[in-house]
Amino acid sequence: MRLPLVYHPAYSAPLPSSHRFPMAKFKLLRTLLEEQGIARDEQIHRPLPVPRRWLELTHSRQYHQAFARGELLPAEQRRIGLPATTPLVQRTWLAVGGTLLTARLALEHGVACHLAGGTHHAYPDHGSGFCIFNDCAVTAQVLLAEGRVQRLMVIDLDVHQGDATAAIFADEPRVFTLSVHCGSNFPLRKQQSDVDLALDDGLEDDAYLEAIGDLIPTLLDQEQPDLVLYNAGVDPHREDRLGRLQLSDQGLLNRDRLVLDSCLRRNIPIATVIGGGYDDLKPLVIRHGLVFRAANEQARLHGL
Ligand SMILES: [Zn+2]
Repeated sequence: MRLPLVYHPAYSAPLPSSHRFPMAKFKLLRTLLEEQGIARDEQIHRPLPVPRRWLELTHSRQYHQAFARGELLPAEQRRIGLPATTPLVQRTWLAVGGTLLTARLALEHGVACHLAGGTHHAYPDHGSGFCIFNDCAVTAQVLLAEGRVQRLMVIDLDVHQGDATAAIFADEPRVFTLSVHCGSNFPLRKQQSDVDLALDDGLEDDAYLEAIGDLIPTLLDQEQPDLVLYNAGVDPHREDRLGRLQLSDQGLLNRDRLVLDSCLRRNIPIATVIGGGYDDLKPLVIRHGLVFRAANEQARLHGL
């Protein structure tokens, strides 16, 4: 099998050049994966925008319509931190469709990777921290509603807590949420996931891998999900501008291998999303490429 990948050329919607969100990273990641021999054209699946009915399993109509029409209050728009331009609105609907498609491909093939996604600070009726719609939450809700899966686990290893995902599924026993994050990073006010592991500032590779090395396999054995949605945010990296952990490239790669291997050896399908990362584009895109390298390698090792 060639690793299924999900990407759309519209993901890198233009932003003002002074904007601090690295929107060009999606397109550059597509190019990098091609150069590395991980992505060939025939592996790339192109998503459709998520249908409104499915989006509304998670988000209120009032919110998504106000966003799409540019009618959010200035304070609500500032909380998101991205302008509601037409290309941005389009890429937002596409990226949710992309995570859903990635999950479907993972259920079919065992593993699949999205070149976007992980917008875990988006709540049902408001966005925050560059997140507008919660792609993993929408995906989980759709697959449950269809009866495609009975139990899901969201493994969120982005340096920021998956606060909105935790809140959305607080009373949903079929979705288990795990967030491993830096305790002092955004958001200030944390939500309660099924399991939260708040790490201290400055934690390095060995201590990090020790912290998750038994936890993730134990939770998988305990919960036995039909699918894992994995947020492989690279902002725990030591060079990241926002994250306060101290992982190296090798540390991130070993983290991704551990998560993928733990799922695949239990025959649990896993869909990956790239999550956050804040640095100059070149090193950032190399970091985001690590989870694809790990997935490519683990798919082979597990005979997929
Ligand atoms: Zn983050």
